[in-house]
Amino acid sequence: MKENYHLHTTISDGKFKPEELIRLAIKRKFKTIGITDHYKFPPAFKEEKSDFYSDRDYRNLIKLRDKYIDKISVFIGVEFDWFSEHKDWIIKETKKRHYDYKFISMHFVKVNEKNEPIDLFADTFDDSVKKIGIKNLVESYYNELREGIKTGCFDVVAHLDLIKIWNKNKRYFSGDEKWYKRQINETLRLIKKENMKLELNTSGWRRECKEQYPAEWILKEAIKLKIPIIVGTDCHWKEHLEFGLKRAKNLLERLK
Ligand SMILES: [Zn+2]
Ligand SMILES: [Zn+2]
Repeated sequence: MKENYHLHTTISDGKFKPEELIRLAIKRKFKTIGITDHYKFPPAFKEEKSDFYSDRDYRNLIKLRDKYIDKISVFIGVEFDWFSEHKDWIIKETKKRHYDYKFISMHFVKVNEKNEPIDLFADTFDDSVKKIGIKNLVESYYNELREGIKTGCFDVVAHLDLIKIWNKNKRYFSGDEKWYKRQINETLRLIKKENMKLELNTSGWRRECKEQYPAEWILKEAIKLKIPIIVGTDCHWKEHLEFGLKRAKNLLERLK
């Protein structure tokens, strides 16, 4: 029985309309899907993505969930971007609606007080590394993420180690460094403490790092700590609906 807990629609930056996506998932024999569109950005970001996930979109999802309830379980989720400097706004927004689960995600990292995108361009990332060094960049990323986790407002950490996205052939860091492991272990402990789940996100297999998020050893640690793991493909269009699901299942079976 197929499940996918990380899907985007036209409510944010996905290519499917929600109903199209649900119908396709039924056709492909999914038992459960979780729609996790991006929430709008804090007002300080001005117009950027201000039209994501409106109240109307939310109400429409509830209607669709009920319409197809005999054919598929549709979970209504959300993906929040975390920025510590907008903590109050984000906390307030997470409480405005009921979701089946809320992702916390980091798509930006602080570089000299500025938010630089992580996963958009390799060049931007490389510039960030040149400015503050890879260790500072990675530590900044995990410190921020932990700030968000500590609010207790979220249920699942999405793509935990997204910061490795451009780390092809381990060009920036090996992942075995003591300082790196310390960051991960501290973050996992906090996830456990907050009773949260971790996402195994298959999209890393289609990006430059060519590795799922998070890395295998991190998944192993999470399993040891009994942190529940859910699988998502970060689906934005058709090709992503089933991307890597089988491989993820095999990986988890091997690790358990
Ligand atoms: Zn994301
Ligand atoms: Zn996503």
